[in-house]
Amino acid sequence: MNLRIPGPTPCPPQVLEATAKPMIDHRSPQFAELLNDVVRRLKWFYKTQGDVLILTASGTGGMEAAVVNTLSPGDKVLAVTIGAFGDRFAAIAQTYGAEVVRLEYEWGKAADPEDIRRSLQEDPAIKAVLVTHNETSTGVTNPLPEIARVVKEHEKLLLVDAVSSLGALPVETDAWGLDVVVTGSQKGWMVPPGLAFVSMSQEAWNAYTKAKMPRFYLDLGRHKDYLERGQTPWTPALSILYGLQVALQMMGEEGLEKIIARHAYIGRLTREGVKALGLNLLADEAYASNTVTAVKVPAGIDVRTLRRLLQEEHGVVVAGGQGKLQGQIFRIGHLGWVTEDDVRQVLDALAQVLPKVGFQVPIRP
Ligand SMILES: *Cc1c(COP(=O)(O)O)cnc(C)c1O
Repeated sequence: MNLRIPGPTPCPPQVLEATAKPMIDHRSPQFAELLNDVVRRLKWFYKTQGDVLILTASGTGGMEAAVVNTLSPGDKVLAVTIGAFGDRFAAIAQTYGAEVVRLEYEWGKAADPEDIRRSLQEDPAIKAVLVTHNETSTGVTNPLPEIARVVKEHEKLLLVDAVSSLGALPVETDAWGLDVVVTGSQKGWMVPPGLAFVSMSQEAWNAYTKAKMPRFYLDLGRHKDYLERGQTPWTPALSILYGLQVALQMMGEEGLEKIIARHAYIGRLTREGVKALGLNLLADEAYASNTVTAVKVPAGIDVRTLRRLLQEEHGVVVAGGQGKLQGQIFRIGHLGWVTEDDVRQVLDALAQVLPKVGFQVPIRP
């Protein structure tokens, strides 16, 4: 099976083997060694000297932690949304009583840092900016360094959903001034779902001391206190941590630059291959994502049948569209444990299946 969805992503056999190891006491020195090693390696990928906390939660739990640990009910926040995950970030803030000002874009487009500048200038009461780095629902990567520059010029807090980018695309937590950066184990990290990682800058900790949104399980102050003792406040998803340690070792061996270059190469290969089949991309190509490609479904083609035939006849699994894009796009995930061959297999399968659902593929020269 070639699982080409943007999470959960395939896991290398060494990672899966590690997840089958026996349990240990999570209040033991043995556990402290595991946790400290994993956190040290994560910080290297985050490019931060700040704190990285590990939560037993999916990515959304990490997003919720970012919000409740830095904000109070009534705080004004600018939620930049270019798709379903941007909407989710805004909804979390709204649920906890923040006053959410939305800066919304057509799905497939990236955010414009100049619009963010204008919003912050027009409304000085805005305290924080919420942004999705890589919008998995549309296959678009926001220009995060430029966005961060604008937000930091205005001295606002910047909360970043980097769930489908960190570990695969460039993210420079400290150099770009990102205050809270969230990711999840089942995306670029080649590990099963179950863990979320959240970084906290000094400014984020300053905000934490004043933040009044309710928090208990996701209280990052507690996580930091326990981390200093080599523990987590609650029982962690130990099996996933075992897998993560192995995955981080593998990633360390490959090297961050090479990982980023591999994703860039495979991203381009996917987009070129899709276009050669006569299909169109949803994303504005200048901002097309190197971890997920969203493909428009040609008029009159039933995407459910297309996806079913890809799976039944070729063992290729692609994702459908989310929210308002359901039925209109399909998405090819290419993050984490992915090779050029994995994507070529998807393109070959598409070339064979598309004519069966009524779409004439152009003859290749
Ligand atoms: C996957 C993902 C999430 C988190 O989803 P969970 O299902 O909660 O892990 C958040 N944001 C983005 C951009 C994602 O791709």
